Amino acid sequence: MRFTCALLIGVLLGGCGQGHVVRNSEPLPREPALGLAIAVVRNGPRLAKIWPGYWTEGQPFAVGDSQSMIIYKPYGSVPPGYGAVPELTGYWVYRGVPPSLARSAADLHYDVGDTMVTAVRIDTSEAEALDLLFHEAFHVYQETQFGEGKRFTWGPGFRDTVPGTGQQERKLLRCATTAGDLDDVRRYASEYVRHRLYRMATEQDGIVQAEHLVERKEGSAQWVGMKMQGVVLGRTEPVVRQAIADLLDWEYPAQPVQMFADGLPFDHRQSLYATGAAIIELLSRLAPGPWQQTIAGGSPPFQVLEQALGDADLPRGTTTSEQDEVGGMAEWHRCGTNGV
Ligand SMILES: [Zn+2]
Repeated sequence: MRFTCALLIGVLLGGCGQGHVVRNSEPLPREPALGLAIAVVRNGPRLAKIWPGYWTEGQPFAVGDSQSMIIYKPYGSVPPGYGAVPELTGYWVYRGVPPSLARSAADLHYDVGDTMVTAVRIDTSEAEALDLLFHEAFHVYQETQFGEGKRFTWGPGFRDTVPGTGQQERKLLRCATTAGDLDDVRRYASEYVRHRLYRMATEQDGIVQAEHLVERKEGSAQWVGMKMQGVVLGRTEPVVRQAIADLLDWEYPAQPVQMFADGLPFDHRQSLYATGAAIIELLSRLAPGPWQQTIAGGSPPFQVLEQALGDADLPRGTTTSEQDEVGGMAEWHRCGTNGV
């Protein structure tokens, strides 16, 4: 019966009855790609809440392993070259690794006949493949749903600013990200914003705007990837927060990579994935209203955080750099000793 059903699906371009409903209590299949795809679909309603409008229920996607490729596509035509997965409605299987995924672990626009889906290959681990899937698919969402943001000119002089840029800021951001109590989150976040505003006042506008751009584009994708990965893996909020905070331990390598993107050196740009994700995690706890829409509309996450905290929390222009450093270290010390 299974085989017949699969053939009929291939010919009729539609469903075969209602298929088999996968229940949460059922164990996942041993095939890594199929198991991962089912886990994603099972968690569809919870995933849809992370970033409204992104990853709607029934969203098609593809995930592969070394043996096969699975497409989840509950509507439309059969993907060319694919057969139905027995007893599972909406899942399609290709035996082997498609050429576009043989060279790269992700294909943002994988052609499945009547539409494009984001496809990833399980490379080092299933957890990493999940993060990659949600991160890269979010870039596809950004292509149509994110406004352009502020235009600016890349600034020269960034080489002087790169070593050690924002290390103190990142320590404070780490404290804010991992704090359990909302008052502590607000206090560390305010201190972080104060430090960063102080630094930004001394930076060229091109660097400040480039940081905003990368945090908005990559920080949001990083945050979405890690939050959704956490949902599928059943991780608690504090565990996901800790993982986001751990990204902030990034250290600049002794020998900087001589590459540039978005107007910034590679290492500097890379660190902004972490700061952007951490800032957005703070927004998810502190910001009132539809902050995702505000970011999509063009606002940098840091500015949204500044607004969410309100002017009263941000005494500025009243401290020297040394006082900032001492105050920041004291905050960091408290954060460290409190074990948050
Ligand atoms: Zn990215």
